[in-house]
Amino acid sequence: MESDLVGELRGEMTRVAALVEDLRQELAGIMLAAAGDAPDDEHDVEGSSIGFERARVTALLAATEQRQAALSRALTAAANGVEVRCATCGQAIDPERLSALPGTTTCVACAGRRAGPSR
Ligand SMILES: [Zn+2]
Repeated sequence: MESDLVGELRGEMTRVAALVEDLRQELAGIMLAAAGDAPDDEHDVEGSSIGFERARVTALLAATEQRQAALSRALTAAANGVEVRCATCGQAIDPERLSALPGTTTCVACAGRRAGPSR
């Protein structure tokens, strides 16, 4: 029997995997455009904008892959009935927080500390 959390994590995994795939293709397209120097009339081609796009997509892809890895850990833990522990303090992360933010690696207290008291 699956808990709601496992189902939600699976759904999120599917979305994130699709996003990673999209970003990889987008990045491959940018690399191709940059290498071929072929004007793509769909875009206003400037050398600097290709470099900017490449940096943006690369950063986004890295962040998304990180999220995918975190989700995978959370899913494994949830599927095995193991608590997901905070990467900072080692306390179990509240399941409600996990279902709201499936890829999170920190508990509410640590996330709050990191964000600062003004939040
Ligand atoms: Zn913590």
